[in-house]
Amino acid sequence: MRILIKGLEDERFHRPLQLIANLFFEECEIAFNPLDQNDLVIDFTVSVSETINVSGVLTDSKGRIEFAAYEKALIPAASDKEYFKQVKHAVAHVYLTVLQDWTGMTQKWGILTGIRPTKLLHRQMQKQTPTAAAHQQLKDEYLITDEKIQLMQQIVDRQLTVVPDLYELQNEVSIYIGIPFCPTKCAYCTFPAYAINGRQGSVDSFLGGLHYEMQKMGEWLKENNVKITTVYYGGGTPTSISAEEMDMLYEEMYESFPDVENIREITVEAGRPDTITPEKLEVLKKWKIDRISINPQSYTQETLKAIGRHHTVEETIDKFHLARSMGMNNINMDLIIGLPGEGVSEFANSLQETEKLMPESLTVHTLSFKRASEMTRNKEKYKVADRVEIEKMMNMAEEWTKEHNYTPYYLYRQKNILGNLENVGYALPNQDSIYNIMIMEEQQTIIGLGCGAASKFIHPQTGKITHFANPKDPKTYNDSFEKYTEDKLKILNELFDKEESLA
Ligand code: SF4
Repeated sequence: MRILIKGLEDERFHRPLQLIANLFFEECEIAFNPLDQNDLVIDFTVSVSETINVSGVLTDSKGRIEFAAYEKALIPAASDKEYFKQVKHAVAHVYLTVLQDWTGMTQKWGILTGIRPTKLLHRQMQKQTPTAAAHQQLKDEYLITDEKIQLMQQIVDRQLTVVPDLYELQNEVSIYIGIPFCPTKCAYCTFPAYAINGRQGSVDSFLGGLHYEMQKMGEWLKENNVKITTVYYGGGTPTSISAEEMDMLYEEMYESFPDVENIREITVEAGRPDTITPEKLEVLKKWKIDRISINPQSYTQETLKAIGRHHTVEETIDKFHLARSMGMNNINMDLIIGLPGEGVSEFANSLQETEKLMPESLTVHTLSFKRASEMTRNKEKYKVADRVEIEKMMNMAEEWTKEHNYTPYYLYRQKNILGNLENVGYALPNQDSIYNIMIMEEQQTIIGLGCGAASKFIHPQTGKITHFANPKDPKTYNDSFEKYTEDKLKILNELFDKEESLA
């Protein structure tokens, strides 16, 4: 599909228009200069005075025409960037409308292509906008459907029940710790994860660096009297290191971090069941780790084999029971919709198996369609469900969780994929993960330690976000962790000093 865009000179339109086009067409190229052959031409007229007026005419190669127009009051803004944002929204509104009319498809999330839709509603709630007005705005300005607005409201309400002081946690931080090793690498993995076998040297050096980061960060937090809200060990698979190494790591956490007893939640991803042993569960219990994740992804054996997860369905179930019997009472499980070879019947099987275990929370991911397509291209034996079937499976998850008393408590969307899908975390009453809420809603700083760990520094007053990423591969990390720690401490000093001087 080739779309020629006319009437928009500013290059800043390119990316947002491409992202919206990607919601409709799997392979799509948009151009701002005439091409030899275009499937669609969309001609915009934009005028900005006290109002922003945008109209667009879509013409296809057969001469079919769609037309849309949108008018919106221009809100005075402090910067050119903010002005442009308003114009961009108006253009996106018209663009989405003509594409929806032409394709007959409805984008349930409207013009939103970002990954955190619930943030929009939180922003309105913080401003104390009446609910009906906030919903109307989501519908009129962003073209979000009622179904998704209801979901957003349900999630936002749930989050504020779980974390009533969500809007007041900007002076605390959460910590993410990245352990970049796994027993083997899964076929669809995009995380920093290295097969652990034969890498003991690299693991030792990495852990040395991580202990250093934890000590330095802990010192800073203590000196500056900054509390920790949650800690999350992810990766990779944090349980792929040995029980002794885990023990030393958690001991370090207790020694270095401030007031660990009062951290609201500590999670360790034990994602791969093949890494879970009674010894490791003992260590988790010893250090009062509240929450673990055991991720089946699917309960169909061929699928697990096809995606390179070297464990069996039985192993997932056995390890779940083992963890339960050893006192783990907050277990999350992840399922993935759209794995190669999987359709409605495989997913129904996964839900049936889940029913036998009833984990405290269930996160339902949708495999990125594009990535899945790549997998299909690379290995012909993989078949990936189409968009309609994927939606069916998402609806099954929604119904199943509702019937079994789970509530959606966080969601994020994947960028740049066909089908405009979302990932949703569901939890039984009072079992929602606070860290997941913190990472999604961006109300406080998250400090990333370890390999591939992304830090997100959020200014306590302005909410301005500064991203900072640790290196992804262990070798670079081992060579430079001191420098990365220093850089993060510098950012933290600036962030929290400013706050003191303004107070
Ligand atoms: S277990 Fe997770 S992090 Fe590890 S290779 Fe598989 S998808 Fe990647």
